[in-house]
Amino acid sequence: MPMSDNAVIAERLAVVCERIEKAAQKSGRQSDDIVVVAVSKGFPPEVVEEAHKNGLYCFGENKVQEAKQKIPLCSGDIEWHMVGHLQSNKTRDAVRLFAMVHSVDSLELLEKLNNEAEKAGKVMPICLQVNVSGERSKFGMKPEEVESIIKAADSYHNVVVRGLMTIPPYSKDPEMSRPFFRKLADLRNLCQGVTGRSDLGLSMGMSEDFEIAIEEGANWIRIGRAIFGDRPKKVPVIDGETL
Ligand SMILES: *Cc1c(COP(=O)(O)O)cnc(C)c1O
Repeated sequence: MPMSDNAVIAERLAVVCERIEKAAQKSGRQSDDIVVVAVSKGFPPEVVEEAHKNGLYCFGENKVQEAKQKIPLCSGDIEWHMVGHLQSNKTRDAVRLFAMVHSVDSLELLEKLNNEAEKAGKVMPICLQVNVSGERSKFGMKPEEVESIIKAADSYHNVVVRGLMTIPPYSKDPEMSRPFFRKLADLRNLCQGVTGRSDLGLSMGMSEDFEIAIEEGANWIRIGRAIFGDRPKKVPVIDGETL
């Protein structure tokens, strides 16, 4: 008999939790210092709800438009995180939809988010996305820019920098991600030095390399396929609109 989607998600999640636990143990960390951001892009609300029933409370999306349609159809107690590139003309929706934005890649975007958050009466937690690999195809600020931007962020009172985020170059071998994760951690330490803060976190690690990310200090791991399976080729249709 085929397993229901729920059973499949529950099983995948059990595997993910075991992998997290092992990586945490290996690196002398507590697994409850690590938040799973379940990246549900490409999946419909029913799938989010199944994952939610299995104990996940924090979900990630990479497109404002998709999130705007999906979020109202999901449980109200889910915490939604924006993990994808954010266009500045979507900041207004973003502050209303999301509890956190992982992908702030410029001071201009930070300022726009700050202004919209102020209008919405919110303080938006953010991560600064850094292009540590220097790949031209990747979003993110240059490592050299981070110090000045994090200092400048101090004077914007409706955003609060919670940490740094990165996406390493894709590789089949998860070990290849390690130097990029380590570079982000070094940069975080530098930021803590210049800001006098000791609470900056790291958003890094995806389905294949999150153990390495945990070993290198990740606080948020953004996991899609390891929880939900391969994303459907044909994106789901919600309310008659193709996402
Ligand atoms: C899709 C996505 C993820 C999750 O990727 P998987 O390989 O499915 O785990 C993480 N972060 C960002 C920014 C993404 O767009």
